[in-house]
Amino acid sequence: MPRIFSGIQPSGELHIGNWLGAVKNWVNLQHSYDTLICVVDLHAISGKYDHQSLAQRTREMAIGLLAAGVDPEQATLFVQSHVPEHSELQWLLNTVTPLGELERMTQFKDKAQRLESVPAGLLNYPVLMAADILLYRADLVPVGEDQVQHLELTREIARKWNTEFARGEAFFPEPQPILSEAKRITGLDGQAKMSKSLGNTIGLLDSPEEIWQKLRPAKTDPARVTRRDPGTPEVCNIYHLHQYFSPPETVALVAENCRGAKWGCLDCKRVLADNMIAALTPIRERALELQAEPDRVDQILGDGALTAHRIAAQTMREVHDRMGLLSPARPVLSSPAQRDPEP
Ligand code: SF4
Repeated sequence: MPRIFSGIQPSGELHIGNWLGAVKNWVNLQHSYDTLICVVDLHAISGKYDHQSLAQRTREMAIGLLAAGVDPEQATLFVQSHVPEHSELQWLLNTVTPLGELERMTQFKDKAQRLESVPAGLLNYPVLMAADILLYRADLVPVGEDQVQHLELTREIARKWNTEFARGEAFFPEPQPILSEAKRITGLDGQAKMSKSLGNTIGLLDSPEEIWQKLRPAKTDPARVTRRDPGTPEVCNIYHLHQYFSPPETVALVAENCRGAKWGCLDCKRVLADNMIAALTPIRERALELQAEPDRVDQILGDGALTAHRIAAQTMREVHDRMGLLSPARPVLSSPAQRDPEP
């Protein structure tokens, strides 16, 4: 069965942009592929971050994923730092990664120009991403458009490593993208991609009241100054959100009522809020159950780390061998997943 790898940063809040753009797709794919889903906490520390809340945000992200339908029976859900081979393979891949390629990455250039001092981790971020994928020799990676460039670099790194250490054999497969249908969800400001850092999100676990309070002031077509002004639904983010949360007949009604100024934007948003609440309530209820059982969540993540570690350890044995590293005389404990925390 082909293998897919997906990662998500522990932002602490899974929002509808993540859900529509990525997580719903993963939930579908887990039934057809050998699926690894990783909360990438090591990526989250490549810039300034709140270290006191990182562990909590990591668990919260796992809860969000489980509540959204990631099934530990179908997919391997784990935390990146629980499998230290990610960091190790990153170092080994650094040795074949061209510096110029890293400096050309759009996300690096965007972020670096806003910083006085650029941490090396920001530059090397795509190498860790390559390590995440190649460690499991994944065939496919569900990505948004903004990650396609990083995936291309992953393929180049795989090619270079294969040429150097596998005599051109495809030891590391060149992973292909699976582009999600809902590629880019615009935030409630109607301008930028939905993102927690921009404060333009609706959380997947928001209460009905929170959803309404966020939707009420959301940007709409600026041409609709008053209720009597006709609008153009295609330029309005509320209309696009209806397409994800409302049935087709409602979407058609929204377009008609908007163009004909037959209702106000608040009426339109109320219908959207009701449909959104209906879709998200079961997820929120599952999340509340899981939040009450943190040990169960940690157990799921521990089991996931063990499964991931078994694959990772096998890859690293072969990588060490092909790169000419001396094997240790005795097996060494290499993973927190392997170390027994109990006396
Ligand atoms: S009526 Fe609906 S689709 Fe039209 S501008 Fe207002 S919120 Fe947007």
